[in-house]
Amino acid sequence: MSKRHGEFSNTGLVAQERSSEGAAVRTAPESRTARRRTSHLKEVPSSRELRDQLRSRCRIAVQSMDRCQSPSKDELEANARDILAELQLSEGYLGWTMVILSSEFWRDQVAAVPPERRLLLLPHCLKHAEGCPADYDQFGLDCEKCGACCIADFRTTAEEMGYKVLVAEGSPIVMKIIVSGHVDAIVGVACLNVLEKAIDKVLLAGVPCMAVPLLSSDCRDTSVDEDWVQEMIHVQQDDSHQDDSVSRSATFMHLLRAARQLFEPQELVRLVPRLRGGPSLDELNGTGIAGLEPVAATEAIAHDFLGQGGKYARPFITLAAYDAMTGAQGASADGASHLSKMPDAVRRVALSIETFHKASLVHDDIEDDDQFRYGIPTMHRAYGLPTAINVGDYMIGLGYRLVSRDLAALGSDVAGEILDLLADAHLRLSEGQGAELLWRDARDKQLSPLDALKIYALKTAPAFEAALLCGLRCAGSISALQKPLKQFAKHLGVAFQILNDLKDWHGDQDNKLESGLDTLGGRPTVLWAWALEKLPLPQREELLSLVDSPEEPAARIARVEQLYREAHVFEVAYQLVDKYQTRAEKIANEIEPPELRRLLVYLVDTVLERPADTADNLVVPSIPA
Ligand code: SF4
Repeated sequence: MSKRHGEFSNTGLVAQERSSEGAAVRTAPESRTARRRTSHLKEVPSSRELRDQLRSRCRIAVQSMDRCQSPSKDELEANARDILAELQLSEGYLGWTMVILSSEFWRDQVAAVPPERRLLLLPHCLKHAEGCPADYDQFGLDCEKCGACCIADFRTTAEEMGYKVLVAEGSPIVMKIIVSGHVDAIVGVACLNVLEKAIDKVLLAGVPCMAVPLLSSDCRDTSVDEDWVQEMIHVQQDDSHQDDSVSRSATFMHLLRAARQLFEPQELVRLVPRLRGGPSLDELNGTGIAGLEPVAATEAIAHDFLGQGGKYARPFITLAAYDAMTGAQGASADGASHLSKMPDAVRRVALSIETFHKASLVHDDIEDDDQFRYGIPTMHRAYGLPTAINVGDYMIGLGYRLVSRDLAALGSDVAGEILDLLADAHLRLSEGQGAELLWRDARDKQLSPLDALKIYALKTAPAFEAALLCGLRCAGSISALQKPLKQFAKHLGVAFQILNDLKDWHGDQDNKLESGLDTLGGRPTVLWAWALEKLPLPQREELLSLVDSPEEPAARIARVEQLYREAHVFEVAYQLVDKYQTRAEKIANEIEPPELRRLLVYLVDTVLERPADTADNLVVPSIPA
């Protein structure tokens, strides 16, 4: 997540401008590297009196905020700073005040959603740590309502009103529930650390959302202003607001749902009819492909794989890009009704993007001999290597046909250009993957930072680029947009890849072991390349020798990490992320029309999610050339 929207930024580093009406206007931050320390901005006002005073002030402040768009973190921060300055309060309350401001901003829109379409999200740290009899299941803590903590009360109240209730943390499950279409608003309780990162994606997507921050971030036996939570659960429209008079903000929620719906069984078969017929793998009830005609099996496996998991980010980009250039009604608060009218030809273009992606996953899994994908055995493990290669090939063919068969609806010029965009992306992605595979098999493991960045640019950017440009081309000419958007996709893709590599070095020890093995195994990362370039000769040779060393993996990885730190690899990598992110933002901020600009900003904010522990303790050296 970007520093701008993923973390509270420090004074003076956010380039804020104010329009003549005084509203904050979003522009690119000047620098991000120095904006990683946020712990000093997450104090909770200690007295109830002060919390009430700040909350009242936030209620007044939101009345002058623009309700057409969900507030960005920069806007929330600017307003929160104004309030704290006016009340002569410490900057330490910034994060807390931003959460309250945001909640007040969304209050009317949450209230307009019926309780049975709302989700109540509670943190398990509210439970009675010693005596809680509840177990965890796939949805989080399954509270038995023993009454020893406030979770039981909140849950009972909310469920009686019709809410869905989860005692869990993290944005992935929340976004999954939102995108699945079961709820339209979220009310939650969480500590400021969690709110900073978990609720962020929900806010960015424009999902109505309210939260009450915990009174501490101790992760155990925590507490909260219980009457505030009850009030939040009971939030309802006041009499002066009839349903149709609530100003509702633009949202990507409906487009995210539309992208997911493409892959639901009935819709998938409607858009991509099965030519060979026969039952789907689902209909065979786990008996496998034995009951299928031999020539129908490949199509059945491919269809089944297309319907499996994933975030559907690429088809979302295609649909949202098309929507942005055709009035952005799908991104409006009542986008669902508009999206039902989206042409099938555009849906098939979005499907084709994901079909190519899924084909590449099958082939990647073979190349890396991965065992699981979406929690089930990878295709080559399930059906054997030759069949998996063949199904991957089939999906590439299917991806092209999804466009080529829609010539009449798209127009031959448009279809031809889209096919060219897809072919170009396909070739470049294969070149990037090829470079990585050749490096993996090379004996010397030499790599320059420039070559690493070139590989990064080829491995991710073409997919972003094709998803964007194909959606835009469905809407009209892209000649004016093609050049800047190619650059945008490149910067976004490179920053994404570097962050991906950095994430491998954060978090639990098992992950670190896996990623370290990946490095040694290896993947050509910019971290490795930078270490080779900056370490003195003896350490450089030691690093290279660790690839084949007979030592235990854990010891080798620990030494790699040590050498990386000596070469300031992590700091430099974060600076590179900042650099590429800033470039992507600059392009995004200059793009017209504003509807497309909004999508690009959203992509930067959501694609570039930084590791949770983004090195508050990193010592940032002067930036190398
Ligand atoms: S009320 Fe629920 S969460 Fe709280 S201690 Fe009892 S079982 Fe655990």
